[in-house]
Amino acid sequence: MAWMGQILRVNLTEGASRTEPLNMDWAQKYLGQRGLASKYLVEEIDPKVDPLSPGNKLIFATGPLTGTCASTGGRYSVITKGALTGAIACSNSGGYFGPELKYAGYDMVIIEGRAPNPVYLSIIDDKVELIEASDIWGKSVWEADAAIKSKHQDPMMHIAAIGIAGENHVLYSCIINDLHRAAGRSGVGAVMGSKNLKAVAVRGTGGVKVKDLKAFMKATTDAKKVLADNAVTGQGLPAYGTQVLMNVINEAGALPTRNSRDVQFEGAHDISAEAMAEPRGKDHKPNLLTNQACFGCTIACGRISKVNEEHYTVVNKPEYWHASGGLEYEAAWALGAATGVNDLDALTYANFICNEQGLDPISFGATVSAAMELYENGAITAAQTGGLELKFGSAEALTKSVELVGKAEGFGKELGEGSARLCAKYGHPEFSMTVKGQEFPAYDPRGIQGMGLTYATANRGACHLRSYTVASEIMGIPEKTDPLVTDGKAGLVKAFQDATSAVDSSGLCVFTTFAWTLEDIAPQIDSACEGSWTTDKLLEVGERIWNLERQFNNNAGFTAADDKLPERLLRDAAKSGPAKGKVNGLDKMLPEYYQLRGWTTEGVPTNETLSRLQL
Ligand code: SF4
Repeated sequence: MAWMGQILRVNLTEGASRTEPLNMDWAQKYLGQRGLASKYLVEEIDPKVDPLSPGNKLIFATGPLTGTCASTGGRYSVITKGALTGAIACSNSGGYFGPELKYAGYDMVIIEGRAPNPVYLSIIDDKVELIEASDIWGKSVWEADAAIKSKHQDPMMHIAAIGIAGENHVLYSCIINDLHRAAGRSGVGAVMGSKNLKAVAVRGTGGVKVKDLKAFMKATTDAKKVLADNAVTGQGLPAYGTQVLMNVINEAGALPTRNSRDVQFEGAHDISAEAMAEPRGKDHKPNLLTNQACFGCTIACGRISKVNEEHYTVVNKPEYWHASGGLEYEAAWALGAATGVNDLDALTYANFICNEQGLDPISFGATVSAAMELYENGAITAAQTGGLELKFGSAEALTKSVELVGKAEGFGKELGEGSARLCAKYGHPEFSMTVKGQEFPAYDPRGIQGMGLTYATANRGACHLRSYTVASEIMGIPEKTDPLVTDGKAGLVKAFQDATSAVDSSGLCVFTTFAWTLEDIAPQIDSACEGSWTTDKLLEVGERIWNLERQFNNNAGFTAADDKLPERLLRDAAKSGPAKGKVNGLDKMLPEYYQLRGWTTEGVPTNETLSRLQL
């Protein structure tokens, strides 16, 4: 119940597919989606495998609540060994693709091997086909989506595809579903490209059954009311999207600016949610046209935007005059504050290209930011960049870079390898704002101390979504903690990591946790799924998942030495704002964190911890 009980396994090398029963013992221990697919990955691949080799696997996985009437029950994840990091990768996305996969009858699809020629996978209930895709190879995500729907004469298909970035193995390429929802981080798109798989197109006509329908309806209805009554999920996110954070984080002195040389951006308002709603241009239309919801979501934080047709980026390109996925906070930060660019239309255009070509805007923007510092430092010159003047604040440098990177040509190819490789190549590894090779997102750990530990210990490389302590440290959810102190942050980070691992495995969106605690989530899972699902069990499942991911990384060659932050954050004090004079105190938090986790001082789970978690 809630699980479909069936996996689709597709071997691209052999051009064959088969179904098999879902391992229900594992489902009880890992729930679904992130946790359950990670268990399959860990059991099935060599942790030292080259991520872009046929030996790596790519898993599209849903959670038990995906496709149900629970609010935000539209999520799925892509799990693999990450191309950017070499660590375990799990990228979560919304839209409609995940529910459709369940309606076709599958909890997950495990992709193996490598197709000899480009193909796409068509799943229409139990009719599964690998279809030749040379006609759409080289096309954008948007073109591929339209071509596949046209070929099947079915506009209701839901498609997850790579753009040219994934085809060209840009190391932070992503997988885009439903045109502008992304499994965004760690280079899952490059893994898909390495398999010569352009897209997975799904159409299902079934449904999802739950254990106790009456109890499930009550639990989900009660929980929806909690979302509606909450100021963040009921008002802030629908009206402003995640962009509600831009001015808030800037005022907190935690907005990484110009490659983290500053913590406040003088142009923050120009690229904020408030600016997106302001009329501009000849027609006085705002950048933001409307909000949009993923499947079944009662929050609707998505943004639908339009570039001003008079803007230099699109003035001669009417193909970009349509409305599409607008700026989320992380993208606006990476394309804007990180590069010092305050031109909202340039950012929106760059975001469109990221969606069209399948690029992670966080890693892209942060890599351009590092390249700008290399350029201003003289470590790279216009001769190396093909004439591109990579100056902080240059909208033209940003928009030209985004046009180059997906093609992986010239300097675009170097940008496509991420900031760690770029900065190492040009002799300044200290300019790379990364952890485990992944660019960190939109919160400066000098101004929000817990985020330093979050980035340092995140299993997929620097990430805000593994333990969003911003909720507590800035927003006071579930209770306010001081963002400038390290005391208590080890326990806070562990608690957020364990709870988030469970939520990411359920089929629900982590944004619900601005309003919901596990007390709201457990009854929804318990009434839908076989077994007894209490908050304690969810926390145990979350902790088990965290340790499973850690074991994979340790076996892949990561050590405690990789639980670190860029030196800039540990040595160069914040220059302004509430955190002025502060560095991040990772050294004070990390030992306590290892202890609370039940790990050795080398960051390895002890036998006692493994035994307690049945690992
Ligand atoms: S809260 Fe936003 S991201 Fe999450 S499911 Fe709803 S619309 Fe999608």
